[in-house]
Amino acid sequence: MCGIIGIYQKDKKSETASRLAVLGLFAAQHRGQESCGIAYFDGEKLQLIKQMGLVKEVFHEEVLKQIPSHVAIGHVRYPTKGSSDIRNAQPHILYNLSGPMFALASNGDIVNYKELREELEAKDVFFESQNDGELILKYIAYFHEKQGLSIVDSIKNVMQHFNGSYSTLLLVKDQLYAFRDPHGNRPFIFGELDDGTYVFASESCCLDIIRAQFKKEVSPCEIIHVNEKGMESIQLNPDEFRSRKHTAHCIFELIYFSRPDSIVYDNAVYAFREKLGEKLAKKEDIISDVVMPVPDSSNFIALGYAKELGMDFSLGLIRNHYVGRTFIAPEQTIRDENVSQKFNALPGYLEGKKVTLIDDSIVRGTTLRKIVKMVRRHGAKEIHVRIGSPMVKYSCYYGIDTPTMEELIANQKTVEDIATFLHADSLRYLTVPELKSLINDEKDFCFACFDGNYPIHLKE
Ligand code: SF4
Repeated sequence: MCGIIGIYQKDKKSETASRLAVLGLFAAQHRGQESCGIAYFDGEKLQLIKQMGLVKEVFHEEVLKQIPSHVAIGHVRYPTKGSSDIRNAQPHILYNLSGPMFALASNGDIVNYKELREELEAKDVFFESQNDGELILKYIAYFHEKQGLSIVDSIKNVMQHFNGSYSTLLLVKDQLYAFRDPHGNRPFIFGELDDGTYVFASESCCLDIIRAQFKKEVSPCEIIHVNEKGMESIQLNPDEFRSRKHTAHCIFELIYFSRPDSIVYDNAVYAFREKLGEKLAKKEDIISDVVMPVPDSSNFIALGYAKELGMDFSLGLIRNHYVGRTFIAPEQTIRDENVSQKFNALPGYLEGKKVTLIDDSIVRGTTLRKIVKMVRRHGAKEIHVRIGSPMVKYSCYYGIDTPTMEELIANQKTVEDIATFLHADSLRYLTVPELKSLINDEKDFCFACFDGNYPIHLKE
């Protein structure tokens, strides 16, 4: 999971595209906190700024003053493939004989990365990183520069040969291309500002922060080309490019990854999460004194659960917002330290209470176990854990850094054993059919981490 943004201003004198891109990245910070960057056209050539760290740390006012442009793309990285290293940060930029010619930012994961990289290496293409974005960029550039394909045909070539997930923005000097993989696995939207500025982004919260209006999703297999003449959409037939014949939006975007104030795959994320909570509540037979979420990603699930049962929603746990998301910290050591730094319970509030604790999912179970321990230490007499998604039994290969199957607790243990591991008095999940019943077009979604049915080929 990463976040991307692209800005194209029709009025070249506006020169605020980079600033708008940085603001959009700030709204997408939850999608990746390891590194961030923008590539922009300065009137003569492409420029690149990228660093490890958060958007507000990297793009302070002194930097923002120096990056006038009418077209820019940006990226926040959450590492899946490749080490925690500036070489794997995006955007990637590529020179040809006339200077910096291409820049690319992508969200997703390429399943057949190794085979495609070896194919290019055999043609003397050199790689600096282990990052999927660099592979997409060099594949396009190779077929454009060495084989004479147009940029659009080079992108079609990517769609023909790449298995996986890629919502992608490409700059070819000052021309912007946006394209999305045939399965539409990661979210990707298009919006416009009142002055006609075009905006592409991972989520609608990135549009809101710059006051752009949501227009549409970039469709699976759509290539959008923007230049000074305007915007052109080339819609290819996804069925001709798919390894399996259906769209495969990641359901976890709605459960956990995306911000609750975003609209993703035409769903208001907060409302979807409330429905998860309602569904959990419908099968409840243990009524507690307190319903509380593991903040913040479970807040709306707990709200929906509490509403359905006519109970009050309580915030018994407080989250320190200056610590990153536990799940996306790249190293186990950092993850472990983060848990106790990240949450605290209200003093005296849980004393003697029967508590229902709501979480969005369980991956390894180590974080939740520590939270249960903390709630009990603060005096709760019973703790009933409810999970707003099914058991995560299978790893993700499409852009989410889930651990190996052996490390997934639900792959190894039964519900009862997991409850014991957590020291919870009871534990319940949503089932896969219950989750699917909340989706209008269930055939257009990926549920692979729950049911093991991978919709995009996994062959390396
Ligand atoms: S396997 Fe899970 S996390 Fe990965 S794309 Fe599918 S639903 Fe999303």
